[in-house]
Amino acid sequence: MDKNSFDKTLFEKINSKSLELKDYTVKNLSKIIQVKAMSNDEKDRIILLKNLCKKAGADEVRIDGLGNCLARVGLGNKKIVIDAHIDTVDVGDRKLWEKDPFSGDFDDKYVYGRGASDQLAGAASMITAIKILKDIGYKGFNDYSVWFSFTIIEEDCDGLCWKYLIEEEKFIPDFFISTEPTSLNIYRGHRGRMEMEVKLQGVSCHGSAPERGVSAAYLASRAALAIEKLNSELKPDKDNFLGKGTITVSMMDVKGPSQCSVPDIARLYIDRRLTEGETREIAVEQVKSYISEATGLDKDKIEVTVPKYSKPSWKKKLFSQDLYFPTWVYPESHPLIEIAKQTYINLFDKRPMIDKWTFSTNGVAVAGLHKIPSMGFGPGDEKEAHAPNEKVRIEDLVKASAFYSAFPFVIC
Ligand SMILES: [Zn+2]
Repeated sequence: MDKNSFDKTLFEKINSKSLELKDYTVKNLSKIIQVKAMSNDEKDRIILLKNLCKKAGADEVRIDGLGNCLARVGLGNKKIVIDAHIDTVDVGDRKLWEKDPFSGDFDDKYVYGRGASDQLAGAASMITAIKILKDIGYKGFNDYSVWFSFTIIEEDCDGLCWKYLIEEEKFIPDFFISTEPTSLNIYRGHRGRMEMEVKLQGVSCHGSAPERGVSAAYLASRAALAIEKLNSELKPDKDNFLGKGTITVSMMDVKGPSQCSVPDIARLYIDRRLTEGETREIAVEQVKSYISEATGLDKDKIEVTVPKYSKPSWKKKLFSQDLYFPTWVYPESHPLIEIAKQTYINLFDKRPMIDKWTFSTNGVAVAGLHKIPSMGFGPGDEKEAHAPNEKVRIEDLVKASAFYSAFPFVIC
């Protein structure tokens, strides 16, 4: 198939193939849900996915050094990457679930279970796209192969898997599509986030004469109120697409020599959401300034650190990173978003909604850190994520499979 045969019949063919393969996609999703896999414990699910990709006919399937599964269709050197994280969060209170979260139950409308929307539906639709691309005979136009990545540890540390792939294995996408749930809309970014730990030093003394010391408890209290003030003064991005960043104190801790002393050490743990233009450096500086103003402490005496994520993967590979996940957003006029719109219109005969995620995705590493053009299109709804009775519409699976199969033709 060459470029000249790129016409309406291609999209019709893809639509009818993905509809024919509906049961195949549903059964694969059901199987994937049945193999439980939380962050850093994804081995069994990764092996299942590797086998499903092989059976679907991928030209190459491999597991990388961290434990992600990568499948290729096409012979080109350039990479269109379609990504699904395949770990899930735990089930929470089991009593809130009407069905067994790992039964993989389905009826004629929905597939049910933990990860159905977030985001194993994306993974199952990608496997169907492998099958469709092979059936159509996609070889890779203009040197583009399609890589399907089934990645790990996202729920614990979004983007770590891709930071590893790009920085350690030099596996660098040219374009990146996240299949996290978008309710089949086209998403072009989301806010970033970071965690911070603030350490404040007081001076301890006997509790009977508190005036001799400097209470870390009072410093921490003033610091917490300063963070509240900072939150109220944060501004949205220029077109208010992502909205404003936020900051909140998530934990506090003070310690001293005894319960009859003025405490000398305070720790505050901070959750910060970042809008466009807000970087790690800006966020740390703001915290120091606001706390300094509220406590009278010298800015240099206020210790603000960004903690690290450091846990070995299921393959026992340790790859650590700071808990900083940069914001990313592409304008609606970006060529990648344009291509996504064209794909959508040609397949579904209507205009797509362009939006953003509320939560964070692997895009923080690919787009946020490494500036690789990225977007999102995924089956299922964001509101299902991490909730009891998670489910996904079967209709979404069919449309997502078609989108992932058609996109490589349109990009070329
Ligand atoms: Zn997710």
